[in-house]
Amino acid sequence: MAEARVIDGRALADALRARIAEAAARLRQQENIAPGLATVLVGHDPASQVYVRAKARACAAAGLGSFELNLPADISETALVGEIGKLNADHRVDGVLVQLPLPRHIDVHRVVAATDPAKDVDGFHPVNVGRLWSGLPSLIPCTPQGCMLLLRTVYEDLSGAEAVILGRSHLVGRPIAALLLAADCTVTMAHSKSRDAAAACRRADIVVAAMGRPQMVGAEWIKPGATVIDVGINPVVRPEGGRRVVGDVDFAAVCGVAGAITPVPGGVGPMTIACLLRNTLLAACRRRGFPDPLL
Ligand code: NAP
Repeated sequence: MAEARVIDGRALADALRARIAEAAARLRQQENIAPGLATVLVGHDPASQVYVRAKARACAAAGLGSFELNLPADISETALVGEIGKLNADHRVDGVLVQLPLPRHIDVHRVVAATDPAKDVDGFHPVNVGRLWSGLPSLIPCTPQGCMLLLRTVYEDLSGAEAVILGRSHLVGRPIAALLLAADCTVTMAHSKSRDAAAACRRADIVVAAMGRPQMVGAEWIKPGATVIDVGINPVVRPEGGRRVVGDVDFAAVCGVAGAITPVPGGVGPMTIACLLRNTLLAACRRRGFPDPLL
């Protein structure tokens, strides 16, 4: 069997970001609108700080505005909800993103529910979740949206494909299931209580791995020629010292069996930020009754 085609998430994300930048420039010239993303960071978690800075840089590169709200780790839930209310009311802000995780004393559900669904660029608000499962237009969570765009580089038509999703989290696995179902796939979801996830995967045309289990999916899990989307981001220690990031899939082994596969890094990760920019642009247009500029 030939080596799998490696799906280049960086190239696809670069192309999407270029289209977003063009659309944002058109909006600025024709409508005098500068779409803006507000990120809310509570506390000083170093990884979250890195993510928030990366999002601000990505906005700037695409010509979108960005606003960073840094709040103390001991802010009360009510005060945080109040800050989100201000962003909901701020006409310069089209997208509101609360960086997760939040400190333990804050109920994430209450905070997510406080975001205006029209500005919920993470797509986590119950209104957007319900609209997604109901087949209505919504803001679609970024990582699942990125997975679908990566899959579309392999399949023009997903109808009838057997898809297995490893992981059922609300933020990743479940929205991917909703999107694959909407594309007429036959969807199986596996999770930590599944009796034989490997057997389910071996029947699948598409495997999406989103478990947070380093390199758990081996070659023996994969049907020859299947497409494998690896969402996992797992830092591991190198034998020679230092750290590296691996996915949930044993990339080297699975490359010998799969038809197409996303690498980690360089697969789903870059698409996630590109889709956040896309959602911000889309939110800016929808709020004003304009059509999707990327269609
Ligand atoms: P999560 O909330 O921890 O959910 C993990 C899911 O995997 C759960 O549904 C869990 O089952 C399931 N699972 C755990 N062990 C399993 C096993 N042995 N067999 C089958 N299922 C198993 O994680 P998440 O937020 O969905 O993220 C998943 C991975 O994606 C992480 O590595 C994360 O870093 C990565 N991620 C990447 C991006 C990106 O941009 N590339 C974005 C978000 C997340 P139960 O429900 O039964 O516990």
